[in-house]
Amino acid sequence: ANLSNGGDTKHIIQIPEIKFTKLFINGQFVDAISGKTFETIDPRNGDVIARVAEGDKEDIDLSVKAAREAFDHGRWPRMSGFDRARIMMKFADLINENVEELAILDTLDAGKLFSMGKTVDIPGAANMLRYYAGAADKIHGETLKMSREMQAYTLREPIGVVGHIIPWNVPSGIFFMKVSPALAAGCTMVVKPAEQTPLSALYYAHLSKLAGIPDGVLNVITGFGSTAGAAISSHMDIDKVSFTGSAEVGRLVMQAAARSNLKTVALELGGKSPLIIFNDADLDQAVELALLANFLNKGELCVSGSRVYVQEGIYDKFVKLAAEKVKMWRVGDPFDSQVQQGPQASKEQFDKVISYIEQGKREGATLLAGGKTCGDKGYYIEPTIFTDAKDDMVIVKEEIFGPVMSLMKFKTVEEVIERANNTKYGLAAGIVTNDLNLTNRVSRSIRAGVIWVNCYYGFDNDCPFGGYKMSGFGRELGLHCLDQYLQVKCVVTPLYNSPW
Ligand code: NAD
Repeated sequence: ANLSNGGDTKHIIQIPEIKFTKLFINGQFVDAISGKTFETIDPRNGDVIARVAEGDKEDIDLSVKAAREAFDHGRWPRMSGFDRARIMMKFADLINENVEELAILDTLDAGKLFSMGKTVDIPGAANMLRYYAGAADKIHGETLKMSREMQAYTLREPIGVVGHIIPWNVPSGIFFMKVSPALAAGCTMVVKPAEQTPLSALYYAHLSKLAGIPDGVLNVITGFGSTAGAAISSHMDIDKVSFTGSAEVGRLVMQAAARSNLKTVALELGGKSPLIIFNDADLDQAVELALLANFLNKGELCVSGSRVYVQEGIYDKFVKLAAEKVKMWRVGDPFDSQVQQGPQASKEQFDKVISYIEQGKREGATLLAGGKTCGDKGYYIEPTIFTDAKDDMVIVKEEIFGPVMSLMKFKTVEEVIERANNTKYGLAAGIVTNDLNLTNRVSRSIRAGVIWVNCYYGFDNDCPFGGYKMSGFGRELGLHCLDQYLQVKCVVTPLYNSPW
């Protein structure tokens, strides 16, 4: 298929020079100790955007030393929450001032829509900092009345040095989902962005210094998972690791944490979320929602609603309308403001999605739309819809992380609840109906961390986000996430004279 060629903005956007490509340790940009670098690739064409320092275990060690020093002796954990908040607000303002350049970096690295980066991802990242800045001076303990002679109070203290490991699909959003609450709590940290998308993270490191975050508090090590990532999860001097990525690697992170110093772990993993559309749904809106739930960010979203269950009364009409509407979905250069879907983030991801599509065909699902690559270069894939999908097909069971929707028919609410829950994952679910009782019943019966009713992807900083089952544990966003970066200490004192 051909790529869309709306082309109104792609000639105007000036790609800036790539300014930051080195590791950020203790407030300085430095080469990797080994001197090694790796290429980061533009998925629009396979070209090299830049070479970036390849951090490894020794570089992680150096950055943990800096973070430990900043935690044990530095200003950040000791300053008032109010002062931390002021610096975080400045950091957020600097992000907004550089929004265009940051959005360009994420588009180049990940193939994300530039228009979305500029209006959603990057401003949203700055707002996460502001949300948690607002909480930094409201971290309270409790006073506990004990027996007549004793009293106790609790302190909520920063957990210490944190390691953040980040995937490539939402590089800016996930960076700040982790860094913002950790900063507010007074932690110090080492961040490892995904090897596919290192550029915006290094830019954020630069802005953090301009904002006044003290050296050593926020370190960024670019590099690969099995080296730099593994050095974080197995480090003896990191107190907590917060990981977002695949369930497969999440398991390795947890094992490494257990084998090293029993650091606490939070895992945000994959999903295979159901979107359930009942007979009374507005057909037009339901089809639009299903397209969005599957093709936004080229399907590279952990919460994608990739198992679409449609009730039998409207199934045939739904299939017909989906086939018509998907023709209007534009795939093309993510810098083009008319385009809805850019390239998959990497060659590896592109190959993986194509192989799942082939598998779906072999398993006997019917290709209603798409199924092929687009253009003659870059990692573009047509938005793809399978009908006649069955619950036990690999394309319905496994996370594809690409623009591939599986459509299935159901009869009763009991049946669809059972089928929706028949998955190892439990990250999200969508329900489309105007029946309030049905909404309440299904919302409470689906084992998933977020349920969207008559919408999909609706979110805010105050909404906790995370998985059930093998989608992980721990919650990000909201005040629940602040707790993940705090310890609770109980201090007990005699009320009058010491009883001893
Ligand atoms: P991935 O698990 O391959 O990589 C994620 C990160 O882990 C990268 O930084 C990688 O370098 C690092 N890593 C790889 N091996 C490692 C190891 N042995 N030890 C430590 N770190 C290691 O995942 P991915 O392909 O980058 O991302 C896609 C996956 O992420 C999907 O499964 C998706 O659902 C999931 N995801 C989940 C959420 C969520 O919030 N639940 C959000 C986005 C993506």
